[in-house]
Amino acid sequence: ENPLLRVEGLQKHFQVDEGLISSLLRATMGKEADYVHAVDGVSFELERGETLGLAGESGCGKTTTGMSLVKLHEPTDGRIEFRGMDLTESNDEELDEFRRNAQMIFQDPFESLNPRMTVYDTLAEPLRIHDIENETARIRRALEFAELQPPDQYFDQYPHELSGGQRQRVAIARALVLDPDFVVADEPVSMLDVSLRAGVLSLMERMTEEFNLSVVYISHDLSLLRHMCDRLAIMYMGEIVEKGATEDIIENPQHPYTRSLINAVPVPDPDVGRERVELAGEVGDAIDVPSGCRFHGRCSEYIGDICETESPSLERKAEFDDDREVACHLYDSCGERS
Ligand code: SF4
Repeated sequence: ENPLLRVEGLQKHFQVDEGLISSLLRATMGKEADYVHAVDGVSFELERGETLGLAGESGCGKTTTGMSLVKLHEPTDGRIEFRGMDLTESNDEELDEFRRNAQMIFQDPFESLNPRMTVYDTLAEPLRIHDIENETARIRRALEFAELQPPDQYFDQYPHELSGGQRQRVAIARALVLDPDFVVADEPVSMLDVSLRAGVLSLMERMTEEFNLSVVYISHDLSLLRHMCDRLAIMYMGEIVEKGATEDIIENPQHPYTRSLINAVPVPDPDVGRERVELAGEVGDAIDVPSGCRFHGRCSEYIGDICETESPSLERKAEFDDDREVACHLYDSCGERS
């Protein structure tokens, strides 16, 4: 049977915004445009009711991956199958069905909610787009589920009249009002006051269970992902470098990048007003990507030229008895650690 979601070789490159003069110079010199390799060959499967965490530092491509999964970005290459249906080849009707079933919860509810729309209209909009009946009853049920009680009291309120936690609950209710099968949650609590986070997370746990949802959580916070996810995929510079069951990865990380991520302590970032992880060394250039293993410039376990010349593929290694996949040459010599 098909998994709910199958992603194969997903790639998203963005052309660098270079300004008129640079682009004219480039054109006259016959040079190719520069591209940011935001996502570069990501593959995974997600079963019904399963939760997968995408982890990594800012800029590793996890948000672009999440947005591509719900078709908010058109992939540059690769396949996304939803219940066996190839989304790159589906017709309008199938895409419409997919859009009803796949929802996204964003990091900042203040930005993702329209400030000029009441709570009622915010939830009614997707129902009207998809021609779904029993509008008021569905909206009431979704708000009740999100613990915005009594629901009718919120109908006429605008986002600025709500607290941050209430706004994120409205965003969750909006995602649930269509009864989706699949949700992408991008740093869903990182903009919230610490005191409100546990409440919103337990709501999301309940949502996953009661709706039997498949969820992709995106976060830099491994302790949050550990709590919320069955499986983890660790991303570095647009690629997945390690994948497996959450506890296996946290207890016994195998990729050098995963190890440093687990050892890193989150630091407050004044630019974005929240935490980010900070590791030694600079992240490589996402335009002129490093050769071989993209982590080689920062890796403390570098084993030699092969790290710079050959790109390690993400695969199951003989050393591990769990279903771990790791992209690292440390494990490439006939099942023995080099
Ligand atoms: Fe480090 Fe080499 Fe493994 Fe890359 S392939 S993570 S550089 S040991």
